[in-house]
Amino acid sequence: MPLSYYTLSLALGGFIALISSFFVLFKGPKQGERVSWFLLSISSAMWSFGYYFMISANDVSSAFIANKVLHQGAILIAFFYLVFILFLTSTVGRHKYALLSFALLAVVFSILNFSDSFIRAVFSKYIFNFAPDAGPLYIYFTIYFFAPTIYAFLILFHQSLKVSFEDAQRFKYVLGASLAGFVGGGSVFFLTFNINVPPYPVALFSLYPIIITYTILRFKLFNIRVVATELLVFTIWVFLLVRTILDESLREKIIDGTLLALVIFFGILLIRSVLHEVKQREEIQKLAEDLEKANEELKKLDKLKSEFVSLATHQLRTPLTIIKGYISMLQENSFGEVPEKIRDVLRKVYLSNERLINLVNDFLNLSRIESGRMRYNFETGKVEDLVANVVEEFQEVAKDKKLSLTFEPPKTPLPEENFDKEKFRQVVTNIVDNAIKYTEHGSVNIKVQLDGSNVLISVKDTGIGMTSEELGTIFKRFSRGEGGYKVNTEGTGLGLYLAKKIVSDHGGDIWAESKGHASGSTFWIKLPVKK
Ligand code: ADP
Repeated sequence: MPLSYYTLSLALGGFIALISSFFVLFKGPKQGERVSWFLLSISSAMWSFGYYFMISANDVSSAFIANKVLHQGAILIAFFYLVFILFLTSTVGRHKYALLSFALLAVVFSILNFSDSFIRAVFSKYIFNFAPDAGPLYIYFTIYFFAPTIYAFLILFHQSLKVSFEDAQRFKYVLGASLAGFVGGGSVFFLTFNINVPPYPVALFSLYPIIITYTILRFKLFNIRVVATELLVFTIWVFLLVRTILDESLREKIIDGTLLALVIFFGILLIRSVLHEVKQREEIQKLAEDLEKANEELKKLDKLKSEFVSLATHQLRTPLTIIKGYISMLQENSFGEVPEKIRDVLRKVYLSNERLINLVNDFLNLSRIESGRMRYNFETGKVEDLVANVVEEFQEVAKDKKLSLTFEPPKTPLPEENFDKEKFRQVVTNIVDNAIKYTEHGSVNIKVQLDGSNVLISVKDTGIGMTSEELGTIFKRFSRGEGGYKVNTEGTGLGLYLAKKIVSDHGGDIWAESKGHASGSTFWIKLPVKK
């Protein structure tokens, strides 16, 4: 390895440690982590720059001073690394005596650093201009250096087994990065003890602040993109700056200097644009969260509404059924002969009451559908009988409107079907009721026929008809056609929505056809034959 590999690695390591220290100091989440990492990084920078100046020094006295600086850095690294790990794992309280002992040792070695028994001298070693040579006390320093780091590694490992998955991931990153740092930085010990192992891994030392900075900041979700960009840009700046300083000819200095100016300019632009984008994303994220909350609120309200409707309609159904019963008894003369004039009134009361019952049933079914409580009671029976019965019930209403209401039964009797009689009756009632409601003149014709493996019911009228636009929406909840509004102002737009739901829960289908306004409409109900 050429000397420049080492000088560049060390200078880069120093600058990265410096940048990281300030970065974390201003952006880190927790006070203890921030400050201890700041002090650790400053110590790392001291060591890196000290080593850099020592190996490239031209005279022995400045190399010796550089050697003191790097060792002061190393003494502090071991101590602050322990402090940092204790803060990271939130175990400062538990290890305070150990911390105190190491603090004391750090002071002792800082004093010993000035003694000749620590580093005897600096002289040329390997390819370095100068390198330190261990004195008799240096072995104790080596032990002091590795003891707290190994202690910290153990704490880190032990804690990573106890904490949440996310924290454990963080600890693993720190553990990996620390190993890289200590292998990189620790590799120079051999040289000091005159063991012939060149410190190749020293470049690793610049890697560890990058990884740990990332780890400290990564949990601030989007910010990490800014951090990554800033780190990258700063690293390029530092790289170019170091190159410019190290360049030997003026020409190279000018080229690298110009490049540095350009990269600084574009780097700032890049960081600003990433910051801008991140801010926008954060705003969108906040908006999305607000929307989600509002949506939850609406869902709750909607549920409350459904519950209220369900409760209210249940309460309404009972009295309406009682009224129906009494009217029927009156009509059957159970309380004495009813005069013809009153009979007519009774019929109108009966019909209005029926309307109300249907309406209440519609609302009840709607709330059941919405709360997922729609239940069916399937029975075997004949659809044609049910339809014939409904048509019969509407004869009087049709007569009032002077409409002809006809029923065409199938040519041959149909096979039996499996269906919920009450709910299916509601469907047919609704369709026939609509056909009469939305027809002013003419007729309503109802037909039941067998079509392959389906029973097909058609309700054809000569009424107001519908445009294709209306046909596309009438089966939706609370949806009413334009014609519907004009003819009948009191509709709810629920009948067809419920009909569709009920028919499709029977495995069938329902649809409408019309050639436009005033052209009449035909509604179709298809029900698969029972297998
Ligand atoms: P409502 O009748 O209470 O409005 P429905 O769901 O039963 O609710 O019907 C929805 C709409 O479909 C009606 O408002 C009307 O515009 C249209 N419609 C339904 N049946 C007919 C029909 N036979 N002829 C013309 N339009 C109809």
